[in-house]
Order: sequence, then C-alpha cells, then structure tokens
Amino acid sequence: MPFQQEPPSLGNQYEDDRVLRSYLKRLIPEASVREIESSLSEMGRLAGDDLYQLQLADRLNEPLLTQWDAWGNRIDKIELTPLWRLAERIAVDHGVVATAYEQKLGALSRVHQCALAYLFTPSTDIYSCPLAMTDGAARTLLTLGNQALIDRAVPHLVTRNPEEFWTAGQWMTELIGGSDVSSSETVARKDENGMYRLHGRKWFTSAVSSQMALTLARPEGNPTGGRGLALFYVETRDENGRLSNIEINRLKDKLGTRKVPTAELTLAGTPAQLVKGTTDGVRNITPLLNITRLWNGISAVALMRRGLALAADYATKRVAFGRRLSEQPLHVDTLAGLQAEFEAAFHFAFYVAELTGRNETGEIDEDEALLLRLLTPIMKLTTAKQAVFVTSEVLESFGGAGYVEDTGLPALLRDSQVLPIWEGTTNVLALDLLRALGLDGKHRNEESPSGLTLLMSRMSHGFESVSDPQLAAAARVALAAFDHAANWLARNEGETGKRGEGERATRMLEAGARRFALTLGRAVELTLLIKHARWSREHAQDGSATVAARRFSSSGIDLIVDDIF
Ligand SMILES: Cc1cc2nc3c(=O)[nH]c(=O)nc-3n(C[C@H](O)[C@H](O)[C@H](O)COP(=O)(O)OP(=O)(O)OC[C@H]3O[C@@H](n4cnc5c(N)ncnc54)[C@H](O)[C@@H]3O)c2cc1C
Repeated sequence: MPFQQEPPSLGNQYEDDRVLRSYLKRLIPEASVREIESSLSEMGRLAGDDLYQLQLADRLNEPLLTQWDAWGNRIDKIELTPLWRLAERIAVDHGVVATAYEQKLGALSRVHQCALAYLFTPSTDIYSCPLAMTDGAARTLLTLGNQALIDRAVPHLVTRNPEEFWTAGQWMTELIGGSDVSSSETVARKDENGMYRLHGRKWFTSAVSSQMALTLARPEGNPTGGRGLALFYVETRDENGRLSNIEINRLKDKLGTRKVPTAELTLAGTPAQLVKGTTDGVRNITPLLNITRLWNGISAVALMRRGLALAADYATKRVAFGRRLSEQPLHVDTLAGLQAEFEAAFHFAFYVAELTGRNETGEIDEDEALLLRLLTPIMKLTTAKQAVFVTSEVLESFGGAGYVEDTGLPALLRDSQVLPIWEGTTNVLALDLLRALGLDGKHRNEESPSGLTLLMSRMSHGFESVSDPQLAAAARVALAAFDHAANWLARNEGETGKRGEGERATRMLEAGARRFALTLGRAVELTLLIKHARWSREHAQDGSATVAARRFSSSGIDLIVDDIF
C-alpha cells in the first residue's frame, strides 16, 4: 500500500479542553458547573463536528455584494455564506450573546458566555465579529440609559429567537482615522422634521449586513475634536427593507476574516437618533469598545486553542525519521512552549471576563473597577500578539501542509492577524494604558502610581505563601518584571516633571509604552497561571498548569529596555 497521511481531527472541543474545564471547576460552584455543562458540551460537539465540517466545506465561499438589480435599481444586497448563516442560528439558539444578559449565574454569566464564545468562534470563520458588536451595542445602550432605544433594540440583540435576532455594527473608522477618530468628518444635520440625518463616509464597517449600528457624527455647529462628536443609533433599513440612504461602495479585499463583509459606506442623509447628548460620542461609545476588546481576547485564545488541538492530534499521526512527531523531544518541546503561551493568555482573557461580569451586576468595588480599566487594554494587546505568534508556529508544526489552503490551517494565521489591528492597535492601547494611569504625556497626575501599585498588589496577592519550588521560582520572575516596570515608569514619570527635561522624558515614556504594557501583560498572565497551577495541584492533583507556568516564566516576561536612546 502506498503511504497515505491521516489528517488531523477534532473531538468534542469542550470535553477535550483540560484548561477550560479545570478553570471552570476552580471558579464556579459545582452545582452551577453541572447546570451549564450540557450547554458547553453541546457547543463543544458542534465546534468539533458539524460546524467544523461545514467550515472546511465552505472554505472558498465569501460574502457577495450585489449593488444593482437587473432593472437598474441600486440594491446593495449582501449574501452571507452557508457557514455564517448556520453560525448565526447556532449562536442565537445557544445564547452566545444572550447568556450574558439573562444572568442565570449572576456575575459568572459573563464567564459562561465567554466559554460558549470561545468554543464557538474557531469553527465559524470569525462570526464572533458581529456577535461582539451586538453584545457591545446592547451593553452600551443599557449603560447610557436611553429607554426608548433600549426598548426598541436590546430585546432583538439579546434574544434567543432567530426570527427576531438583530446584529449591530460599529461604524467609527473614517478615511481620516481609525485610531484617532477625533477628526471624523461625518456630519449630522437636522431635517425639516427635526430628525438628524448623517452625511459622510465610513471606511471600515464590519458585518455590514447588520440591522442597526452605533456610529459617530458631528452635529452641525459642534466644535472640532473628539468632544464635538455625538453617538448615534442607526437602523440600516427602512420599513420596506431598503437601505436607509446608505450606499455600500464595496467590500474590502482582506488578508483574512474573509467571511466578514467589511464595507466602505457612504451615508447620504441616513436617519439617526442621538443615544445620549449632542457631544462626547467617543466617551459614550467606550462600553462597546470594552466588550469588543474582551471578545478580541476570547477570540485570540480560541484561535490558539484550535491550532494547538489540531497540532497535538497531528503529532500523534505524522511520522518522521521513524518516529511519530509526538515522540520527538524537540517537537514536543516546541508544542509545550506554545501550550504555555496559550494557557497564560487563557487565564488573562477569562479574568477580564470575571471582572466584566462583576461590573455588569454592580458587584465590583472601586479598586476592581480601576483594575478592569487597566487590564482591558493590556489583555487585548497581549493576547492578540500571542495569537499571531502561536498560530504562525502552529502552521510550521504541520510542515508544508500548514501552508496549504485546503487543510484549513492558513486561515488560522490570517484571521489572528486582525486581532492586534482592530479594536485598538497595540501602540494605541499601550498609550491608552498610560492615559488610564494618568500619564498620557500631557498631564502629570500625582495619583498616577496608585493604579499600578493596585494592579501589582492584586496580582501578586498570596505569593508569599507559594511553597512549591517551581511555582515559587516562577513567582519571582513575575515580581521582578512588575518591579522593573514600576521602576521604569517612576523614573520616566519623574523626568517629565523636571525643568528642561519634560519633552524628552515624555517622548521616552511614549516610546517605551508598548514594552511597558506587554511586560505588565505577560507578568499578569504569569501570576494568574501560577494561581491556577496552585489550585490544580492542591484540589485536582494535576501538575499540568505548573509545567505551563514554569515554562511560561522562562519565555520572556520582562521586555523593558532601559535607556534605549
Ligand atoms: C478587517 C477589519 C475590520 C474592521 N472593522 C471595523 C469596523 O467594523 N468598524 C470600525 O469602526 N473600524 C473597523 N476597522 C478599522 C480598525 O479599527 C482600524 O483600522 C484601526 O483602529 C486602526 O486605524 P487606522 O487603520 O486608521 O490606522 P492608523 O490609526 O493610521 O494607524 C497606523 C499605525 O500607526 C500606529 N499609531 C497610530 N497612532 C499612534 C500613536 N499616537 N503613537 C504610536 N503609534 C501610533 C498604529 O498603531 C498603527 O500601527 C476594521 C479594520 C479591519 C482590518
């Protein structure tokens, strides 16, 4: 018989996931785990079987934009692919958004929802994108308290009935800027009936097939700059199903996320309603960004996990130099390094989900609210970078097959590459962190160190009693990285206040912000991994997380460079 290579396969993606199951066991009371386990197991089955098979079969399908009908009417119709149509149905049926709003587990409902999203995402070619914005829009409307809009839209966004379900878009980026939207050119003008109408171009609008969107525009007469923008609610179609003075100019031809219809739009008098006030749109849209950044982190760990599940299975099937890859020490070592990155990222993303859940049920205290403010950008930027690294290595772990499209593997890397770009690039979020610490290079805030002190003390809490020598060594690495980051910050912050040194020091602070943020991110991940490893040893006699923590502690936690200029 000629040689025939067996392809990688997936089992039930919940049952097979030691990391997720062990984490849920630690966090959630046993009775509640039993309550939610069937929903997770069913999603794990779909993700490893029906959805995964359809994903492979649907690989070449992409959304289709038809701008004109046969009779010369502008229709701008978008057809989604079979995978996305099924994904929407499954997402709604299984409450991938709704679970966070039904709050059957109280504050832990957000964790339950994120676990569903984590299982669902990798088999759906980023259907997580419209779900993230839908979730973010619901949270924003609820937070801002516009009752008429809450009554109108939120029931559609959080429903479990596919016939009633709406997705939401988030239209911020214009040609002039995505990171810095303060100069946005879209104008809101009142018509003769007093209704606002939007005029402008939106340059990146994902999942443009949504029924509603939250967007930024400048009411006529408002000042320039970010404060002069207002947050608007738009329903994309009128009662006859026609687009509401919206033209879809084209769909973007992108590296990845090929199933996501990302469009360039012209708003030509689109009816819109103010969500809250006529100014401060950038501030008002923040709840949406916090939710989409959480989804970004969950997607990052989900894509890493999918790559590693396939790579681990393949290693048991592929033979080289007379032995399976799973018996080759260097291959095993390579995968172990990737597994450690994934486990560290997993605990960070889910920790932010825990804090988000407490925030949503009003159980968060002042310190935790500050912690959530600091950790959301750090988590998003850290996990996104890890996803690109891990999925790139996963492709290599398949050799040539990893580079071949119909294995389905290259999409993992291409889809991961968007994670550091949208919802705030790495640099932009690193500067946002400085702002959250009161150090935005413009203002010096005497309170600034307190945020960092709080973060460090919360993260290292209980470390004095770590007795396992391997975990104690890992804990020392995390503490040293925190100290280095704090010293770097204090030194540079001190310089910004010195006469004649201010401008240079501010530049130093900004230039080092990415290394500072990534160092904090990796150190936070290590602390969370150590805590889970301790629990696993003590309560489940499982040393796997200890191995991951030890491994992760020696893979570049402290990235700060002193005196780079
Ligand atoms: C697939 C895809 C889908 C998208 N979907 C949407 C959507 O649905 N809605 C939406 O509103 N947007 C969407 N976007 C847009 C996305 O959010 C922006 O592209 C992103 O925020 C970056 O903005 P920009 O493209 O204008 O880049 P720029 O802001 O021009 O950034 C260019 C580079 O400069 C860096 N940079 C910028 N400012 C600074 C600074 N002060 N200091 C240091 N470095 C800096 C950035 O990190 C980046 O590396 C999407 C993008 C993609 C790729």
